[in-house]
Amino acid sequence: MAFNSSDTAAFKGVWVFCEQREGVIMSTSYQLLSEGRKLANDLGVELCGVVLGKDIKEDYLKALGGYGADKVYYCNHELLDVYTTDAYTKVICDLVEDKKPEIFLIGATNIGRDLGPRCAARLHTGLTADCTHLDVDVEKYKAFLKTTSTIDVDNTKFEDTKNLKMTRPAFGGHLMATIVCPDYRPQMSTVRPGVMQTAPYNEETAAKTVLERVDVKLDASDIHVDLVEIKKSAKKLVDLVGADVVVSVGRGISSDPKRGIEIAEELANVLGGVVGASRAVVDAGLIAADHQVGQTGKTVHAKIYVALGISGAIQHLAGMQDSECIIAVNKNGSAPIFDVATYGITGDLFKVGPMLTEAIAKYKASKA
Ligand SMILES: Cc1cc2nc3c(=O)[nH]c(=O)nc-3n(C[C@H](O)[C@H](O)[C@H](O)COP(=O)(O)OP(=O)(O)OC[C@H]3O[C@@H](n4cnc5c(N)ncnc54)[C@H](O)[C@@H]3O)c2cc1C
Repeated sequence: MAFNSSDTAAFKGVWVFCEQREGVIMSTSYQLLSEGRKLANDLGVELCGVVLGKDIKEDYLKALGGYGADKVYYCNHELLDVYTTDAYTKVICDLVEDKKPEIFLIGATNIGRDLGPRCAARLHTGLTADCTHLDVDVEKYKAFLKTTSTIDVDNTKFEDTKNLKMTRPAFGGHLMATIVCPDYRPQMSTVRPGVMQTAPYNEETAAKTVLERVDVKLDASDIHVDLVEIKKSAKKLVDLVGADVVVSVGRGISSDPKRGIEIAEELANVLGGVVGASRAVVDAGLIAADHQVGQTGKTVHAKIYVALGISGAIQHLAGMQDSECIIAVNKNGSAPIFDVATYGITGDLFKVGPMLTEAIAKYKASKA
């Protein structure tokens, strides 16, 4: 029978696209599996990881179970070794049409942002990009709204359905919008790396994961581009998402950007962290874009986040406010960054930054 995305009752299960590069599964996949596990539990259905690639080690595939996958669909093919839109879209859509999952989550990586909308369009369903929160259970969604919104939740009527409630920033981050896709399946969502937290690895569930090898139907005529060469960036990108300590600089460094970035690097070095930045600094060309934290940059869950000369615009906060300890240094005592800071220092970053570095270095030396 022809695939019909509006036959919603025919769809069951939660899927996560588990992206691999050079045979290694990307950490975003673990984050999404951990989140997908909660959704699958609320729905009482299976969670499946979907991996496309060539000769991926079975250990890597089974390990997905350690983050919650009951089953892993593995599509192994010569032409799936490196990503091409045509090949990945075809194989994923074939699998969706065959197995019919009700929810399909994809990481909003460069590949995911290309792949997700293609699949959604081909399957004739909806996709919500860059989600920051997902719910199926209405009571859990209401609890989420109570802590994060100004909605009078107790006096608002909510439809009691198990539709996926996909929440994302809208209007430049000033509003949060919840989007549902009630009439078509699968309900598709992309989630930016770092937004969801990875659950602890569970050896027992990993051992129980079922590995299903998919019979892939693909040949060169399905692919309409020639991959001539892959050129990797010579520069090593900063790993903000995985960092425990991030020291970020904002426009406050403008009077001497070189020294400002140096101060941040020195502080990051002594704390064993990396340097981040606000968009203002990136847009001014003072630091590369991979350092940007925020709604259109990276989302970090640092143990320590230091904000040097950052005002605390809502779009910046969106990428760092879940950090465990936030230390803000700002000349302006009423800067909004102080509203989310654990420790606030009103002062000049060019003076306070080096003082912090020195004090921490001394403390570390005294403990050595
Ligand atoms: C759709 C959209 C997406 C966006 N995405 C992002 C994003 O991902 N990330 C992001 O950061 N922004 C983002 N922005 C931009 C955001 O709105 C702000 O403009 C930006 O975060 C401001 O950066 P800032 O805090 O460095 O600069 P400013 O707001 O100009 O703040 C500079 C701060 O430095 C302080 N200061 C000045 N000199 C010193 C000194 N010597 N010592 C100490 N403090 C000093 C000032 O008091 C001020 O508070 C986005 C905006 C839009 C519309």
